[in-house]
Amino acid sequence: MKLERILPFARQLLEKAVSPGDIVIDATLGNGHDTVFLADLVGPNGRLYGFDIQEEAVLNTKTRLADHELTDRVTLFHTGHEQILENVPPVHHGKITAAIFNLGYLPGGDKDIVTRPQTTISAIEQLLELMAPEGIILLVIYHGHIEGAVERDYLLRYVKQLDQSLVHVLQYQFINQKNNPPFIIAIERR
Ligand code: SAM
Repeated sequence: MKLERILPFARQLLEKAVSPGDIVIDATLGNGHDTVFLADLVGPNGRLYGFDIQEEAVLNTKTRLADHELTDRVTLFHTGHEQILENVPPVHHGKITAAIFNLGYLPGGDKDIVTRPQTTISAIEQLLELMAPEGIILLVIYHGHIEGAVERDYLLRYVKQLDQSLVHVLQYQFINQKNNPPFIIAIERR
């Protein structure tokens, strides 16, 4: 298949947006796969700030980072991404080149603990103040579970009304696949 699948497409966008030495955010640590990918991209002189409300996710991510010898360039917060603004140091405000939200529940964890539209949107609003010009916020939306479908609807309504003189908003989605596969919304600050 020539069309890029969803997760590889997300990674391609991150690779485009991030250079060594950059400051980036993983807004939903989960099992730390995106954290490792991004921490590798920023290199030894960059910094990643990561957020998750579940201790299990923070611990899983810590272990994965240690396995890849990437711990030095990462700061993990066991708190919600709706606290981004107060946790990212002022010296890095306006300097974030990429942020990723992998929404939904922790794979292998408690499926009742899911991301929620109000806190996700609050985090995006805060991030819009923190992003560098041409910085990209990626939302990977899982809408196969009920709360995910609700979150999708809130997020689509929210991003569609964002001012096009401030941000470009892209939706990347296969629209003829069964079982509601995930799709991407990418927001690029102008
Ligand atoms: N990116 C992860 C990976 O590579 O394994 C997968 C993330 S998982 C789909 C979603 C995560 O979001 C869960 O670990 C959940 O605890 C977390 N989460 C839910 N609400 C949150 C919030 N308000 N702030 C930060 N993380 C949250």
